Amino acid sequence: MNVTELARQLKTTREELLQKLPDLGFDIGHRAIKVDNVIAERIKQAWAQGERRERLKSKMEKQQRNTERAQSAAEPGGTSITIGDRITVSDLAEKLNTNVTHLIGYLMKNGIMASLNQEIDFETASIVVEDYGFKPVRGNADDAKKEAASTAELHVLKQQIASEEGATARPPVVVVMGHVDHGKTTLLDAVRETNVAEGESGGITQHIGAYQVVEKDRLITFLDTPGHEAFRAMRERGGQVADVAILVVAADDGLKPQTLESIRVIQKENIPFVVAINKIDKPGADIDKVKKELSEINLVPEDWGGKTICVPISAKKKEHIPELLDMVLLVADLEKFSANSDRDACGVIIEAHIDRSEGAVATVLVNTGTLKIGDEVTIGQTHGKIKALKNWKGENVATATPSMPVKILGLRGAPHIGDILRVAVLDRAKRKSRAKDYRFVDVDTQQQPATDEDDETQKKGELNIIVKADVLGSLEAFLASLKKLENKDVAIHVLKQGLGNITESDLALAEDVGAVIYGFSVTPSAEAQRMSYNSSVEIKTSKVIYELLDDIKARASTFIRKEIIEVPQGQLEILKVFRDSREQSIVGGRVKKAKITDGAKFRVMRENEPIDEGTIIEVQLNKQKVSEAPEGSECGLKVKGARGFHEGDILACYTEEERET
Ligand code: GDP
Repeated sequence: MNVTELARQLKTTREELLQKLPDLGFDIGHRAIKVDNVIAERIKQAWAQGERRERLKSKMEKQQRNTERAQSAAEPGGTSITIGDRITVSDLAEKLNTNVTHLIGYLMKNGIMASLNQEIDFETASIVVEDYGFKPVRGNADDAKKEAASTAELHVLKQQIASEEGATARPPVVVVMGHVDHGKTTLLDAVRETNVAEGESGGITQHIGAYQVVEKDRLITFLDTPGHEAFRAMRERGGQVADVAILVVAADDGLKPQTLESIRVIQKENIPFVVAINKIDKPGADIDKVKKELSEINLVPEDWGGKTICVPISAKKKEHIPELLDMVLLVADLEKFSANSDRDACGVIIEAHIDRSEGAVATVLVNTGTLKIGDEVTIGQTHGKIKALKNWKGENVATATPSMPVKILGLRGAPHIGDILRVAVLDRAKRKSRAKDYRFVDVDTQQQPATDEDDETQKKGELNIIVKADVLGSLEAFLASLKKLENKDVAIHVLKQGLGNITESDLALAEDVGAVIYGFSVTPSAEAQRMSYNSSVEIKTSKVIYELLDDIKARASTFIRKEIIEVPQGQLEILKVFRDSREQSIVGGRVKKAKITDGAKFRVMRENEPIDEGTIIEVQLNKQKVSEAPEGSECGLKVKGARGFHEGDILACYTEEERET
């Protein structure tokens, strides 16, 4: 046979064939043109066998890599734990494979009071994860990207405002930072209680994330995000949104890790600050010790010849609060914070949620311009028309001027904290495309559709769903549970969510994009029902939330990528081959390592190279069928799938386990 023809039949090139033949035991020379037909047949067999071995080898190597990876994942320190921006304490405990009460105790010891279902931010969680000996990895790159974008936008906005023409002075926005239990909340309460205008105290105040007080006839805005729960918002967003920081340090405790962390944020954002040395009423208070510690990190107090303004206070006894506020105003005067109130508003979202009766509500801190009822606004990925504005006392107001926090009603969806609000009239087409881009109402729990740039998300499976529910509370609960069903292989996109029965338009959208419709305590309208007969759209309705979630879970699980991990078992050396066929071979041998188990898979190894592979179908000890043969025993095996056994070959046995990648 012509060598070129042989190469073609073997699906290789003549050169490669000639090069590999010596390894297969054929020496026909480098320049051979023809080979004997009998030899050609032998070459074909050897070639096929060689290819099989190559395949086996690479499969074995891949399995070894997988096994190593799986093993290193099982070792503390060797594995990483992926956490999103926030994680509940119970979920974290699960990831750490630890008892949740143990974790709560650990958090408490570190000054974080968090209950089972409370969320902690990535930074806090990552410290915990490291302490438990794992490597923290931030999940959801998409969110991180979005956050970085809105942070950048905020910086640009701040610069624009600073250089705006026609600007006039505006109240400073103050954030209170510091270590847990040093008195941030007490100070915020003291400021609010002592400085609201006459006659207003005692009125119902609303927690909208910020409030305003009057000191020496001048307004000051305070961000009042409570320290514990919104740890991260305080540290990160607070730092970006605020003009001036008050760093609270307890006089009996001194500088602590979160104090230093707060200083880092303050310095990174380059915001002026005043140190409130708190709890001076306490017997153990040592103001000088705090000043000394400050000096040690180059924050030398003014009265010690430095530039750091320090005001000793007692938040609990409401002492020296006016002095502290005076200093805040002094710092603000040096910075000359200004804005143009005679233009369309621009602001930043400091709080947002879906309210049972009011729908999507958010608090915006107006940076510049004046926000008015009736303004059409875009905020991050949602939009709306301002229906009502409420100040922090819950009073309806018609406008909000620079540095004023207001609760806004009339949004299509809850924006994200840190999103920028702009007044912008969207034309019809844009509004439509916006709705299409961002798929109707977006709440915190909702994943955005994958974008082209996001390769990671692109690789994910995508489950599109439409959710309808009878009341807002159920809808929220349902959406909140959805987040937990996501995994790294599947993103759940809520294309539309709403209250009331399933309508024709829900069906039309589902058909358009390939979505499943879930109805919680609602049914399809008669029209939608009729339409569904001729449609492939699946509609699942139930009065039990878990039934719907289970259905989604089942669908999501089909996307989970799994891989097979080999778990090494015993090894047997073949002493005798009684029968050799791929259907069924019989061999006898000695168990050299561990044990040989019925049903195990094996690889035939010769001189450490894989030759073939198969499965054990029977184990015999002293001519008796057994389920396993122990180390050191001599046994007989019936096997299938492999052939070509030699005496001295090693059967390296393994079992296969499925693991999520
Ligand atoms: P935060 O974690 O920084 O918000 O701290 P809190 O405001 O919750 O205060 C922690 C504890 O310190 C509470 O028990 C407060 O009553 C107490 N505290 C706060 N300020 C003072 C103060 O000026 N004097 C005294 N004696 N206790 C204070």
